[in-house]
Amino acid sequence: MNQDGTKTLLEPALLQWLKTLSPQPPKVLISACLAGQNVRYDGREKSLGQVLTTLSAALELVQHCPEMDAGMGVPRKPIQWVQTSKGQRQLQWVEQPGVAVDFPLRERAEHWCQQQAELHAAIIKARSPSCGKDTTPLLSEQGDTVQWIDGVFVHTLAQTYPDLTIVDEHYFTREVDIVWFVVGVYLQAGKPAGLETVNLLNSDLPWQGNLEQFLDTPTQDRDRHVQTLVSRLG
Ligand code: SF4
Repeated sequence: MNQDGTKTLLEPALLQWLKTLSPQPPKVLISACLAGQNVRYDGREKSLGQVLTTLSAALELVQHCPEMDAGMGVPRKPIQWVQTSKGQRQLQWVEQPGVAVDFPLRERAEHWCQQQAELHAAIIKARSPSCGKDTTPLLSEQGDTVQWIDGVFVHTLAQTYPDLTIVDEHYFTREVDIVWFVVGVYLQAGKPAGLETVNLLNSDLPWQGNLEQFLDTPTQDRDRHVQTLVSRLG
């Protein structure tokens, strides 16, 4: 139990052991609305709740809202991606079809991404025109979804850091997925230091040091690996 009465889903022994792997908690970017900040266009948030409590106990969460960073303020008018009749992708105002968004979202995203160092993963909001990853609707001028694309911020993030693992809130459907995510991020963070335990575990697990592959491990296998890990720690 944390001091504020909230509960982390990580076994205390596992958390303690993870913290021996990396002198500083690994840095993970999180969309600010998922971290509970009231930064959505309608002034609300989309907190991950207990998932957030668990992640905060183990990781350094870097909270960021690219639309606030671009000066759009809150509340603000909603935006969407539209494929124009000329075949161009354009960010437009939902309430003003055909009118392009005139805030510097791409420029601010490039600036922010260039300032970051040592990000180990990112947790972003699905379907957002800024933060979505393969889940953001690209609409025709008639309003039909023609494709699922990346939001402007995440597209820039992925281009700046091609090896960065990016998941959205739907990754955390079960408690073991949260534990698995934290363990994977720590193993990746500890790997460059060549720690003996990390190397042993990395060789035990079928992921070859690739966090994305680690997170893609089938459910039954990841359950078994987390249980083995926890039982080893006594
Ligand atoms: S831009 Fe991203 S962080 Fe900001 S409110 Fe939208 S989804 Fe959340």
